[in-house]
Amino acid sequence: MALSTTPPWDDVQNYIDGEWRTPTSNEGQAVINPATGDEISYVGFSSNEDIDAAVQAGQEAFEEWSTRAVEERIQPLFELKQLLEDHQDELAEILVQEHGKTFDEAKGELRRGIENVEVACGIPSMMQAGHLPNAAPDIDETAVRKPLGVFTAITPFNFPGMIPLWFLPYAVATGNAFILKPSEQDPVVAQRIFELIDEAGFPDGIVQLVHGSVDTVNTLLDHEGIEGASFVGSTPVAKIIYERAAANGKRVQAQGGAKNHIIVSETADLEFAAKKTVSSACACGGERCLANDVVVVEEGVYDEFVDLVLEQAESQTVGYGLDDKTDIGALITSEHEETVRGMIATGIDEGADLLLDGREVEVNGYEDGNFLGPTVFGNLDPEMTIAREEIFGPVLGLMSVENIDEAINVLNRSDFGNAASLFTSSGADARKVRHQADVGNLGVNAGTAAPMAFFHFGGWKDSFFGDLHAQGQDMIHFYTDEQVYIERWPDS
Ligand code: NAD
Repeated sequence: MALSTTPPWDDVQNYIDGEWRTPTSNEGQAVINPATGDEISYVGFSSNEDIDAAVQAGQEAFEEWSTRAVEERIQPLFELKQLLEDHQDELAEILVQEHGKTFDEAKGELRRGIENVEVACGIPSMMQAGHLPNAAPDIDETAVRKPLGVFTAITPFNFPGMIPLWFLPYAVATGNAFILKPSEQDPVVAQRIFELIDEAGFPDGIVQLVHGSVDTVNTLLDHEGIEGASFVGSTPVAKIIYERAAANGKRVQAQGGAKNHIIVSETADLEFAAKKTVSSACACGGERCLANDVVVVEEGVYDEFVDLVLEQAESQTVGYGLDDKTDIGALITSEHEETVRGMIATGIDEGADLLLDGREVEVNGYEDGNFLGPTVFGNLDPEMTIAREEIFGPVLGLMSVENIDEAINVLNRSDFGNAASLFTSSGADARKVRHQADVGNLGVNAGTAAPMAFFHFGGWKDSFFGDLHAQGQDMIHFYTDEQVYIERWPDS
């Protein structure tokens, strides 16, 4: 089977034990193109029997895979990297049609995903632990990392091409089996990636795909054959996943939602900062956990900066993601669009100044799409709902503060700690923010603080539950247990 880039597509399938299988519960949902409102596919949800079959196939495949030479284990990853490169445009086209973001944004996320495959190809070095000769008299000690079995990852709708690859390559390179449960809102790109995985040469059962929703996730988390779970999604669900998996004795890492801040100092290049601010808040329709949508500006440059942000926001073109003039695509569902509209109404009710209203935007030819234009509030107060809660739409708010200390104070009052950015030309400001900001990812003169694949990706506070984060070396620790050999070999 190979998907074309033009929908409607056949119902998405599970990929279990090297075979495509139709999920067998009676539940499921339509996959909708958010820009057109058209039904483009259907995702059936997996039954308990489907999950049992996947876990069993994973356990059986693990026996042989975990003992294979590491150099052999990374060969399918090299294949997969090349297949993803060769099919990047096609994957991006599918992704746009089920998610709503722009083609360039879709390609950008796939690039970030591919980088994780590349990093995991370095497992022969990354997986080494330590060796100490003469650790004690006549004793040598060696630490080794061992894979554990079958892992799962439950991923969100907003980066359906990238986030599964934060986990999958590391899980299998370290010698485990892996089961992905992607978002039911945009599952088609995962299907196409798994068609490529099918070509890449992994043994049956090592990399598997199961579709579903809440029940499917619960079955995975309760299953005795699953060693650990990675989760990325909203904070309330991240908490549920963390507690349930931990109660079942599993390893778990759960990344949650966010509320990110940009600090603009009086010494910043304001035009550059305004451009990056609007792109940070509005790219991917604002549906990014790294979107900075609270903008905290030193009072001396507040008015000038507001004007620059408005100029930049007004220049954005809202439209269909496959149209190359589009800067901001559609939101994932009409329900989510209503939620974002509700947040805008709350902002007005709570007294923020609506400086640019994106609610009336029209996209010719796409009247059924979930579109919202960039929306800018001024006079934001840290206690307002729109300053505290995740919006996940192209909405940003600006507030004036006396100085950098007050800005850091605003930032650190947030319940979340995923990311923040500072625009400045002062090393002293940068140092102060670096030392004091309670966030997992901090950008300096970078609007979106997204670490490369060889660094870990993870937030703090209510943006993350667990200890080891996604990507890079943290994944090696998450997917292995360390064993220490203490050896004495006396002369006979
Ligand atoms: P979501 O929490 O609604 O869903 C995420 C996954 O959890 C999906 O696969 C879904 O099927 C499953 N799920 C939903 N409700 C569940 C429940 N009650 N029990 C068990 N499983 C459940 O998130 P979403 O709307 O798909 O994604 C957007 C959210 O993800 C935002 O809050 C965003 O900030 C967050 N996010 C965080 C990061 C990060 O790195 N911290 C990255 C991307 C997205």
